[in-house]
Amino acid sequence: RAKEEGRGRFRFFEQEMDARAQARRALELDLRRAFALRQFEVFYQAQMSLQDRRIVGFEALARWRHPQRGMVSPADFIPVAEEIGLISQIGEWVLLTACREAARWPGSHRIAVNLSPIQFSNPGLVETVSAALATSGLAPERLELEITESVLLDNTAATLAILHRLRTLGVRIAMDDFGTGYSSLGYLRSFPFDKVKIDQSFIRDMPTDGDSAAIVKAIIGLGVSLGISTTAEGVETEEQLNRLRAEGCTDIQGYLLSKPVPAAEVAAVLNRIPT
Ligand code: C2E
Ligand code: MG
Ligand code: MG
Ligand code: MG
Repeated sequence: RAKEEGRGRFRFFEQEMDARAQARRALELDLRRAFALRQFEVFYQAQMSLQDRRIVGFEALARWRHPQRGMVSPADFIPVAEEIGLISQIGEWVLLTACREAARWPGSHRIAVNLSPIQFSNPGLVETVSAALATSGLAPERLELEITESVLLDNTAATLAILHRLRTLGVRIAMDDFGTGYSSLGYLRSFPFDKVKIDQSFIRDMPTDGDSAAIVKAIIGLGVSLGISTTAEGVETEEQLNRLRAEGCTDIQGYLLSKPVPAAEVAAVLNRIPT
């Protein structure tokens, strides 16, 4: 009896696993076809200077518009794209699209593009960036590349060489999601980053959690001492904005200002918030 029940549970478990594996295979298949079907888009989210409350740039964020699934979050499809070897192709497309679209904006706002750690093991990365600048005509100093700490985790000498070559092109390098993952302050010494982005989890908890508030304050202080600008991610309230400004944070990004918007709505965001 117990044995039977056990077997039944196991069969249920197996079916569950099968269903999950099938869903995952379907997602992979859809992702491989997404390019040919032109289902990818780039959205843009404004970044504002706290000194004068002007827009200084936008971050490019990948979107996948699936006919049945709707908008698939990059948090869901980027990890899959990394696993199945599609991330370099997607990353390259986002980079070129963002450079092209930003080159047409009124004004010379910066455009920040996320790079996956996997793109650093691709020997053509520097050439890809340089080609995107040449093709789009975007001034190199307007492009900012966002990397996470995990990029510096292994292969450090080779990675640092690539970062220096990218810097030589004239682009800026930002450390994304700072304070999460394998956080080591040493990473800030290993490369002269232009910017540190404070992870949104600390910004979210800052009003209610003293430890998060202390960490935010410490990162901003570090930025000031090292001469690196700081951007707070995920700012949703005026209260957060005021505290960040009081602490000396350089820029903010978050729903308080604007959600990520399609390219066609960038001009409207620029009109709403002065630049
Ligand atoms: P990220 O680079 O840290 O981007 C910031 C994320 O925070 C975005 O999520 C943005 O929509 C979200 N966000 C911004 N303001 C707020 C706010 O006020 N409240 C809340 N709750 N969230 C806010 P998104 O667009 O879903 O992207 C998630 C992550 O996916 C990105 O995190 C980035 O790591 C990755 N990603 C997106 N596009 C690309 C890409 O083209 N290439 C690579 N390699 N990764 C990408
Ligand atoms: Mg980012
Ligand atoms: Mg981030
Ligand atoms: Mg993030």
